Amino acid sequence: MDDIIVKGVRGLPLIQKGDKIPVFICEKISLRDGDIVTLASTICSKAKGYTRPLAGIVPSERALRIAKMTGEEPRFLQTVLEASEEVLMEYPFILSEVAGGHVGVRAGVDQSNIDDENVILLPPDPMAEAAAIREEFSAVSGKDVGVIITDTCGRAFRRGQTGNAIGWSGMNAIRDYRGDTDLFGHTLKITEEAVVDELAGIANFVMGESNNGVPAVILRNCGRWEGHDDLYFRKEEDLFRKLMKKE
Ligand code: GDP
Ligand code: MN
Ligand code: MN
Repeated sequence: MDDIIVKGVRGLPLIQKGDKIPVFICEKISLRDGDIVTLASTICSKAKGYTRPLAGIVPSERALRIAKMTGEEPRFLQTVLEASEEVLMEYPFILSEVAGGHVGVRAGVDQSNIDDENVILLPPDPMAEAAAIREEFSAVSGKDVGVIITDTCGRAFRRGQTGNAIGWSGMNAIRDYRGDTDLFGHTLKITEEAVVDELAGIANFVMGESNNGVPAVILRNCGRWEGHDDLYFRKEEDLFRKLMKKE
């Protein structure tokens, strides 16, 4: 297999509602079949208008109560509550499950890389979003690419955020090693590798945060893998969710 190539797409404009991201990217870079295009969820949301003005939002009792604890803007917290399917924790920050199964801090609602009066929500159906963008790439470039929509996320047990995949199309989320044998002939019983998160991690590293201006990263020569898309634990098998509920 050829070496993996990781290319940040530079020179993209500030994305506005209605912008066709694949058109912009194909003007900057020539794609090949099998490439994986990773996109910051932020620009997918801006292009589709999944943003919300804070003006006119009336914070609920719950948002006001959480605001007293966290010191955050109550209208912002109201958007977070409304973006949440299930709130797992309120303090020291809201942690919630959003539509599709992703669990994120503040429901993935962002106040960065947008003007002060608006917030950016995660795409409400990121899997469908990734599939639609993949189709657009095919229409614009004639190339069969994979698409991963990423978000920068915190994690349990370790300090520091990393990129996570929140939507993907054209590949399986997980490479399933179960049944494979290791170098010593042992059969692997447990290993399922969350490849889309690993790829989101390197993409997020190249994107950077803040003002880097690189919301898209192309990954070339990643090959193909067999597996499945069952990335999120089902509620009944999620040990951490069970532990959180006990307290
Ligand atoms: P998130 O991880 O999806 O929440 O997105 P971030 O806000 O961390 O942004 C990821 C990268 O995209 C950073 O390099 C930002 O500077 C860049 N970025 C965000 N929005 C835009 C945009 O509208 N245009 C361009 N060119 N870059 C953007
Ligand atoms: Mn984000
Ligand atoms: Mn980020």
